[in-house]
Amino acid sequence: MKSILITGCNRGIGLGLVHHLLKSSNTATSNIFATCRNPQQAEELTSLAQKHSNLKILQLDVKNFDSYNDIVKQVQDVVGDGGLNLLVNNAGVSSKFTRVNLVKADQMTDNFLVNSVAPLMLTKAFIPLLKQASKANESLPLGCSRAAVINISSILGSIAENQQGGYYPYRCSKASLNAITRSLSFDLKEDKVLVVSIHPGWIKTDMGGKQAPLEIDQAVPQIIQLFSNISQSHNGGFYQYDGKQLPW
Ligand code: NDP
Repeated sequence: MKSILITGCNRGIGLGLVHHLLKSSNTATSNIFATCRNPQQAEELTSLAQKHSNLKILQLDVKNFDSYNDIVKQVQDVVGDGGLNLLVNNAGVSSKFTRVNLVKADQMTDNFLVNSVAPLMLTKAFIPLLKQASKANESLPLGCSRAAVINISSILGSIAENQQGGYYPYRCSKASLNAITRSLSFDLKEDKVLVVSIHPGWIKTDMGGKQAPLEIDQAVPQIIQLFSNISQSHNGGFYQYDGKQLPW
């Protein structure tokens, strides 16, 4: 991967991805664009950027759709004709566990805005740069080194695996994200840009909670390995961090 952009990098899985991409020598990345809502408060990310010149921090609240063109321009100014090889839609929110008697309309709309509308619209904004990367790397097989979009979904978005109920805002917004992945995979097929949904595993983060079985440092290297393994056969599919295919 030459250039990769990840949303929601000030903490959790996004920050873990940045750490491990900077560490891993076999995925030496020329440009890592790490977006976050408040760069001034992103101390760990800022300290990494001071040590690694290939890490660029960009301010982005994914709900601010009007700022997308500006973000694309900032990336374009750095990558030039090389385009953007990989867009990772990672930023996400999860309303508290809700049974039907507790669910509120604003939880539904907020989870939808961040978890499904934003990944779709950000991907739309980056299509020219993704196409550019795919063209610039015509000799490479389809995959994340050429041009791809990874949507960080969740097993809770799987309708087939829902044996517990509740969680309406989160489940529905991630099921919607999976539907977006599937449609994008067809819409971007001709442009040779792959689109895949990934369940990153249940990980100890602010969202995953303390009882989660996986540490960030256990799951993230496997997620990065999965990025490297993604090929045409994964396009439009739903996979977990260890490569296992998941039901919709
Ligand atoms: P965290 O709650 O630790 O981090 C969420 C990240 O998303 C933060 O960087 C947060 O930024 C960012 N974010 C939220 N809203 C916005 C917004 N409007 N604009 C920009 N950034 C925003 O969660 P995780 O790291 O655990 O989750 C990352 C992704 O992985 C999510 O999509 C989540 O659904 C998914 N996931 C996580 C699992 C887990 O077990 N941890 C399991 C399955 C899926 P800020 O600090 O500014 O709020």
